Amino acid sequence: MTTATKETMEFQAEAKQLLQLMTHSLYSNKEIFLRELISNASDACDKLRFEAISRPELLKSDAELAIRVDVDEKKRLITVSDNGIGMTRDEIIENIGTIARSGTKKFLEALTESQSKDTNLIGQFGVGFYSAFIVADKVTVISRKAGEDPSQGVCWTSEGTGTFTVEPINKESRGTDIILHLKKDEKEFLDGFRLRSIIHKYSDHISLPIIMKKTEKVKKEDSDETETVVVDETVNKASALWTRSKKDISDEEYKEFYRHISHDFGEPLTYTHNQVEGKLSYTSLLYIPKTAPFDLWDREQAHGVKLYVRRVFIMDDAKELLPTYMRFVKGVVDTDDLPLNVSREILQQSPIVDKLRNACVKRVLDMLGKLAKKKDSSDYQTFWKEFGRVLKEGIVEDHANKDKIAKLLRFSSTFEDKEEQTVSLDDYIERMKEGQDKIYYLTGESFAAVKSSPHLEIFRKKGVEVLLLSDRIDEWLTSSLTEYEGKPLQSVAKGNLELDKICGKNGEKKEEKKTDPEEHKAIIEKMKEALGDRAKEVRASVRLTDSPSCIVVDEHEMSPHLKKIMQAAGQTMPDTKPILEVNLDHPLVKVMEKDEDRMTDWANFLFDQAMLRETGQLDDPGTFSTRLNDLLLKLTEDKQ
Ligand code: ADP
Repeated sequence: MTTATKETMEFQAEAKQLLQLMTHSLYSNKEIFLRELISNASDACDKLRFEAISRPELLKSDAELAIRVDVDEKKRLITVSDNGIGMTRDEIIENIGTIARSGTKKFLEALTESQSKDTNLIGQFGVGFYSAFIVADKVTVISRKAGEDPSQGVCWTSEGTGTFTVEPINKESRGTDIILHLKKDEKEFLDGFRLRSIIHKYSDHISLPIIMKKTEKVKKEDSDETETVVVDETVNKASALWTRSKKDISDEEYKEFYRHISHDFGEPLTYTHNQVEGKLSYTSLLYIPKTAPFDLWDREQAHGVKLYVRRVFIMDDAKELLPTYMRFVKGVVDTDDLPLNVSREILQQSPIVDKLRNACVKRVLDMLGKLAKKKDSSDYQTFWKEFGRVLKEGIVEDHANKDKIAKLLRFSSTFEDKEEQTVSLDDYIERMKEGQDKIYYLTGESFAAVKSSPHLEIFRKKGVEVLLLSDRIDEWLTSSLTEYEGKPLQSVAKGNLELDKICGKNGEKKEEKKTDPEEHKAIIEKMKEALGDRAKEVRASVRLTDSPSCIVVDEHEMSPHLKKIMQAAGQTMPDTKPILEVNLDHPLVKVMEKDEDRMTDWANFLFDQAMLRETGQLDDPGTFSTRLNDLLLKLTEDKQ
């Protein structure tokens, strides 16, 4: 659809807000505008090269893909041009008049709430095209889509305030010119040397030539005189970074390349670059970011790995190359073993892709293993804080690598009782008590809830460490990870505990004499009767030392917390009954034993209280509080 006249349109609200932030926040690092525009130009050429595999005529008249940076000092203009894919009128409006990315809104909210001038936050988001407005008070984009007639060109202009215009224009060549009308005080960027040094700094790794004009004195033919001519000069190294030898690539270059492919402003946490030749030939360069993107929790969101075949860009977001639980990884994979015309459908069925995927997964796990082994654990902790919960999905999804992933897990535990997850399963095993053959854990709704759970009482007393799990995924994690290094994982809230074999804090084996359950069979029976079908069983507890009661489920039953999650997700759950454990040594229980008349109230009170601690809620809170009030009143009356 083409409209013959110039139209003025409004930026989408979010685009407006972002623009404003950008122009005010990034003034300390203005030069990055060039990197962003060159990065876009390079992507546009990649896209064209890919299209041209099936439509070679697109490249025909102008086959040398390149990016040009031109300066007009007099008019204060910088033009960044490419002969890439170009944009139609509709695409221009869609791509640079709106911000389609999910999470934009959330991002902007986060910004306004906290520090709106925080460049790091903006960086996480990636600034892209809009960075042009850091140095320009007007930007003109002239574009023509590859394969269209010259008459189908489109001209977009904006002063970076509320509106932009679009109008048809004739454009002889395919691709896009971004023309920056520099602000008055940004003259420094008209200097060719300055621009060249910026290109070196940020864009050396771009595989296409970035060309600038240069004046040169040459000797005239048949004469000693010289004349000044203007020639093209390729400013960057112009070879795909990942194809270069590792020893020739500096850390800074790796980091710049990361920024290019990830659209992340910050630095990567770590990376791994592998060039493999053999049965399967491929190069992979994979990065772990320092911070999670806003849409990390959307399992459908774009993945970060680009696929190249023999240096030709094939696609962004190659989901087939890494499993969903590694969606935080950014990078490129380049292989000689796939056909250039590979499609998503082929990718999904190709055995070569399976092999590539296995290789990439191994690379990522090895990279994380290395990071975890570093003496200074702060980098691994950064990783874990940002992406740990995503990696945990791997335990459920990736059986082949379960052990390797398990080694990388970090938890909170009763060892330090802090919320930060720093304890590995290996740490745990090292600290196991004599006679202990299980890895104990407790899952629950929040760290605070698990930390103060009555289930931990006997473990704390004996000094036996318990892992404290309160991430949502942990319920699934523990149902998939049933043992580690030959040691079963055991929930302290499930089944009967056999703790006799474990030595106590001071090495003693036997607990001090407790009330003998045999002598109190009667009260247990009465409680069971009083509770009716609320509890499957009532029994004397070995878990409790300080609390009067707790809820336990059978070994293979779902924990009350998981049941609650499933119900909240709309699942109907089988109506299984919990087990109530009672601490016969607790003073309240002793009072209850002497108060047979109120057995129903007491039993239900102990049950509800235990349920409340377990799940944070009750089916019938009203009855609970009425019962508790009655009981308190009666006890007070008794005293008077
Ligand atoms: P990003 O590059 O992170 O997607 P940008 O704001 O930089 O975000 O660009 C938005 C979109 O505009 C790009 O995804 C691309 O589709 C389009 N675009 C930008 N520059 C060019 C260009 N030189 N040629 C073709 N399309 C471009």
